[in-house]
Amino acid sequence: MWARLAAHLKVEGERTVPTGTCPECDADVHVDTDADKGDTISCEECGTDLEVVGLDPVELDIVEEESLDDDDDDEEEF
Ligand SMILES: [Zn+2]
Repeated sequence: MWARLAAHLKVEGERTVPTGTCPECDADVHVDTDADKGDTISCEECGTDLEVVGLDPVELDIVEEESLDDDDDDEEEF
C-alpha cells in the first residue's frame, strides 16, 4: 500500500541552511542547499545580486551589473 510508503517519507534530518555574508550590507544571506557555484541569489536585506563563488564555506560576491559605460578609466573629453 502506498499509505505505508508515505509514512516513511519523513523529512530527512534538518540540515543547517547554509548562509553566506552579503559583502554589501554584512547580512546573513540564506543559500539554497542545492545551490551551486555560479548561482545568483539576492540579498534579502539590500537586494544586491550575489553570486555564489564558494560553497564550503559559502562565499558570496557582488554581481557586477553590466555597466552602461564600458570605458573604465578612459574618460577623456567627449
Ligand atoms: Zn545585502
